[in-house]
Amino acid sequence: MAHQWRGVIREYFDRLDVTSDTPIITLGEGGTPLVPAQALANLLGAEAVWLKFEGMNPTGSFKDRGMTMAVSKAVGHGAKAVICASTGNTSASAAAYAAQAGIKSVVLIPEGKISLGKLSQAVAHKAEILQVQGNFDDCLILARDLAENYAVHLVNSVNPDRIEGQKTGAFEVVEALGFAPDIHALPVGNAGNYSAYFKGYSEDRAAGTIKHLPQMWGFQAEGSAPFTVGHPVANPETIATAIRIGNPASWDLALNAREVSGGRFGAVSDADILWMHRFLSQEVGVFVEPSSATGAAGLYKSQRQGEKFAGKKIVVTVTGHGLKDPMWALKDVNGNDIQPQSVSKNAAEVAERLGLA
Ligand SMILES: *Cc1c(COP(=O)(O)O)cnc(C)c1O
Repeated sequence: MAHQWRGVIREYFDRLDVTSDTPIITLGEGGTPLVPAQALANLLGAEAVWLKFEGMNPTGSFKDRGMTMAVSKAVGHGAKAVICASTGNTSASAAAYAAQAGIKSVVLIPEGKISLGKLSQAVAHKAEILQVQGNFDDCLILARDLAENYAVHLVNSVNPDRIEGQKTGAFEVVEALGFAPDIHALPVGNAGNYSAYFKGYSEDRAAGTIKHLPQMWGFQAEGSAPFTVGHPVANPETIATAIRIGNPASWDLALNAREVSGGRFGAVSDADILWMHRFLSQEVGVFVEPSSATGAAGLYKSQRQGEKFAGKKIVVTVTGHGLKDPMWALKDVNGNDIQPQSVSKNAAEVAERLGLA
């Protein structure tokens, strides 16, 4: 019989902070493809590049890896409701896992800055959705306040169970390759995922499974780049809404990960992000939401600025699915809407139009 992937808690039971008493709330998350990206390797002049395609998780983003842990532990503690602040994917994931667990979910979203796909997921999974008059950082302060003082369990990545679940992304990379890449690049918002991959690789090294840690390269959008400027940003701005975060919750963890891994932080423009979003869908066949292209966009910017990747093996996490936010694909490079061409039913005419005749 073909092996059925059982979700990250069952697959990595011995390597996660769970016991046989922990109820397992899972939608079968993890086990995502590590896709070879030859076109990106060529663009960067690297030996090999792989995309860890996290859009293939049950709700379409890597958030599910952490949410299976956070909701399972919350239920184990008797929680009847979970709450999160979200730019979209955390709420989609929290709502789905709460539905599976049969508990209530409350999501706090910032005003006017959430994609239709993500909002529809929270609605579909029957979350109580409140739009807060403020940005993501304000939503997180409010969520923490409510969780501290009322009977509702916080499932943002300030909850260490989230990071714990997300570290399994690194385990999967190492299992798929049989070694650690030289560089692991990814987008950074609250820096939970950046810190989680570092934790996963560090545990693999401690276990002797890998000989060295990859350098952790984290990229933000220029208008929302607290790690590049070195302090929180009051009014973050970028079209990459999943990383539109001015005051990263995992600040200290991320600085340590950068330091210990010999990695770096960088920032890219929205135009660079959208360019790479298009490149990945057109040249690699992997459709991601714009935020998810930020890691690859950062590598490409580094290459244009003189960085040499010759001989390097690189893994890039692409964090969320393109269908979350499909409007970006439906515009051409000049921002005009793309419409299918209308044709007759005549084969000769269609062949002519296609340049086949
Ligand atoms: C949450 C998210 C990020 C940012 O991850 P952090 O852990 O907050 O740094 C990036 N891309 C997508 C698609 C996300 O949903």
